[in-house]
Amino acid sequence: MLRCCTKCSRDFPATTEFFHIVDRKISATTLRGDCVECFRTRLRLRYATSEKARSDLTASTRRRRARADVKEKERIYAREKKRKDRSTEEGAARLRDYVRTWRAANPEKYERYKTTTYKGVTPKVLAKNRTRDLRKTRATPPWVELSLITPFYEYAAALTKQTGIRYSVDHIMPLKGKDSSGLHVPWNLQVIPLADNIKKGNRLCQM
Ligand SMILES: [Zn+2]
Repeated sequence: MLRCCTKCSRDFPATTEFFHIVDRKISATTLRGDCVECFRTRLRLRYATSEKARSDLTASTRRRRARADVKEKERIYAREKKRKDRSTEEGAARLRDYVRTWRAANPEKYERYKTTTYKGVTPKVLAKNRTRDLRKTRATPPWVELSLITPFYEYAAALTKQTGIRYSVDHIMPLKGKDSSGLHVPWNLQVIPLADNIKKGNRLCQM
């Protein structure tokens, strides 16, 4: 069954893929007159032109986002979206542009970001989490002492703070090497600039 959009007069199948439901609380099947696309355009326009619509939306969004379950859902959604965007040439370029614009608009925040530890996590917690995660992949032998791992993360954080260049803990023999797998043990750790670590990837030598 086709349904004609009241705004753009195009015909679409009368399903929730093309028409939003008016109000789920009242009826789960009553569809809006305008198509999904027209509805979205109208909302965007309202948001862009009306200060009230903007503040209304912000307030309700704020309330929604304060909920723990919503927070978790949004976190997962954002991560998946970023991954998807990055997978295409165009999406990756758009992300790069966005980051560049953000950095230019927020120089102080960017400086702070560069010189704090990874996503605001303390080196101690970072070492603990990383060691725990690598236990699952069996890169961390059961006898490894966390107290010997943590100093590497503390050193990386201290260097980052001192120099303004981001340092990270690298596995000398990569955890997922081409021919062999390194371990998450003190003698396989070294502190190097994050950029070098990323460049190195899973290779044994720096390129
Ligand atoms: Zn339409």
